[in-house]
Amino acid sequence: MTRRAALAANLAAVRSRIDAACAAADRDPAEVTLVAVTKTHPASDVALLAELGVTDVGENRHPEAQHKHRDVAESAPDLVWHFLGAVQTNKASQIARYADVVHSVDRPKLVTALARGAELADRRLDCLVQVDFDTTDPGRAGVAPADVAALADLIAGHDTLRLRGVMTVAPLGVDPAPVFEHLQQISLALRERHPDATVISAGMSEDADAAIARGATHVRIGRALLGERPPLK
Ligand SMILES: *Cc1c(COP(=O)(O)O)cnc(C)c1O
Repeated sequence: MTRRAALAANLAAVRSRIDAACAAADRDPAEVTLVAVTKTHPASDVALLAELGVTDVGENRHPEAQHKHRDVAESAPDLVWHFLGAVQTNKASQIARYADVVHSVDRPKLVTALARGAELADRRLDCLVQVDFDTTDPGRAGVAPADVAALADLIAGHDTLRLRGVMTVAPLGVDPAPVFEHLQQISLALRERHPDATVISAGMSEDADAAIARGATHVRIGRALLGERPPLK
């Protein structure tokens, strides 16, 4: 089987999973955006996915993301690029040049750096507040639920940024359903102050169905689409 055929088959399977999860939750599949997480896979895979109709791709590392963006920008100019990983403050300006959405905004300094980077690039950058629900591991990215509102207000205060919503990565080894439910409540509260912050980025290959049942608007799918990744070095 060619790589193209393998990706097409995986994409069809993922799309039917999303459709089934939407049907079970009485939601319209048009409300759920599939973000294909292409990290560690070559730019040629990004190009194939775009040809197959994928509109959104996600990467979690700079400069890998930058290189791939450069490689496919010409053949797939309309792709929406989501940056999902930790952002070093001193890389924020570079990321603001190619990313359309940053899912991992988790501290005031990063907000300032992204706003400045977007201004220099003459772009407007969509931002999500990354929320962390794991109280056992202080090293994880994301702000505590209690700190979402303040960081969101900070983002909304910059002309070059657009506060679009919230994101989480469910902690490993726990039932993700209550986590996604909590994120949905946080999103509803946030929308009272920021009506345009409608994005809920939640759910990956293992738990996308549970996330869709609790309002996810963006699911970030890597392995189920592209296959297993080589282990991190
Ligand atoms: C890698 C990654 C994903 C995709 O995970 P899979 O299990 O491969 O679907 C989603 N979100 C983030 C933040 C990631 O780093």
